[in-house]
Amino acid sequence: MVDKQKLKERQPVAWRILSNALKSGHISHAYMFYGQKGPDQSRMALLFAQSLVCEHPDEDGFACQQCDTCRQMEREISPDFYWLHPGGTRSRKPMTRKELDAWWKNQTLEPEKKKTWRLRKEDIQNLQDTFSYTSSTTTGRQIYLIEQYEEATASASNTLLKFLEEPKDNLTGILCTGAINMVLPTIVSRCQLIPLRAPARSALEEQIGELIEDEELVSILAKAGYDNDRITSLLEGEALFEIRQAAHDYWNARSTHGAIVRLETGVFAKGAFGSREAVVFFLNCLLYFAEQENRSDIKALEERTVLLESIDAMRLPLDPLLLVERTARDLKRISQRR
Ligand SMILES: [Zn+2]
Repeated sequence: MVDKQKLKERQPVAWRILSNALKSGHISHAYMFYGQKGPDQSRMALLFAQSLVCEHPDEDGFACQQCDTCRQMEREISPDFYWLHPGGTRSRKPMTRKELDAWWKNQTLEPEKKKTWRLRKEDIQNLQDTFSYTSSTTTGRQIYLIEQYEEATASASNTLLKFLEEPKDNLTGILCTGAINMVLPTIVSRCQLIPLRAPARSALEEQIGELIEDEELVSILAKAGYDNDRITSLLEGEALFEIRQAAHDYWNARSTHGAIVRLETGVFAKGAFGSREAVVFFLNCLLYFAEQENRSDIKALEERTVLLESIDAMRLPLDPLLLVERTARDLKRISQRR
C-alpha cells in the first residue's frame, strides 16, 4: 500500500492532474508517466490504475487501496488489469519488487538480470489478445500498465502504436518511463503526459551548501540532482551566477519576443553558453523558477512539461543553442495564448 499523503507532497503536479481527471471523469485512452526514475513512478501509476475502478475513492478521487478490487489489482489477479513490469506475473523472468526498487535507486543490479527485462512484440500481442476476447467483468473499465517502456523493442512499439491508434472504449493504457526521449514520438503524442519529479533531497542540499553559499543556487542544483563532480566542473568553467541571472530575466519576460532576442545577444553572444552543461543548468534554472510560481493551471503545467522535455532532450546529440531557442519559442507561444 502506498502512503498517499507522502505521494501527494512529493508529486504535487502529477497528483493534481490525475486528481482532476478522476474527479471530472475525463479519462484519456493513454497516459505516460515520465521523469526521473524512481519508485514514485511505479507507485503513482498503480494507484492511478486502482483509482480508475475503485468504488471508494477519497476526496481527491484516488483509490482506497483496501477494497477487493484494489487488492486484486495490486496482487495481479484482477481480470481487468494487465500489468507488465519486471518481476510481474506477466513477464518472463521474475524480478522481485525489492530488487526492482533497488535497481531504480542506484541501478546496481547485475547487468544480465537487468537485460532480461525487455518488452517484446509478443508481450504487446498477449496484452491485446487479453482485452479483445474478454469483456470487463465488474467495473466497466479495463486497464493495462506497462513499466519501463523505454525497454520496448521497435516491433513492440509498432504493435502498441496500432493498438493506440484504434482506442477501445473503456480501455485505458498507462505507460511509465524514465527516458521519454527513447520512446517513439508517435507513441508519446498519443498519451497524456504526467510528469514525475525526483524527490527533494535535503542531504544533497547540505552537500551542495558546502560548495556554494547562495541559497537559491543550492536549491536549483539540488532539485535538479547535481552531484559534487558536476557542480565542481560547472563552478570551474561556467558563469553560474550570470547564467542564473539571465535565466531569471528571461523567465520574467518569456512572453515577449524581446526575451529571446536578449538571450541571443546577451549571455549567448558572450559565450557563457560554452558547454552543454551550461545549457542544461540554464534550463534547470527555468524549471526551478517555473515550479517556484506554484501555479496549477494548464499553462503552467505545459511550461513545466516543455522544460522537462528540453532537459531530457539535452541527452541527445542536438545543438544546445537551437534547443534553447526552440524551448523559448514554445514558452512564448504558451504564455501568449489566452
Ligand atoms: Zn478500493
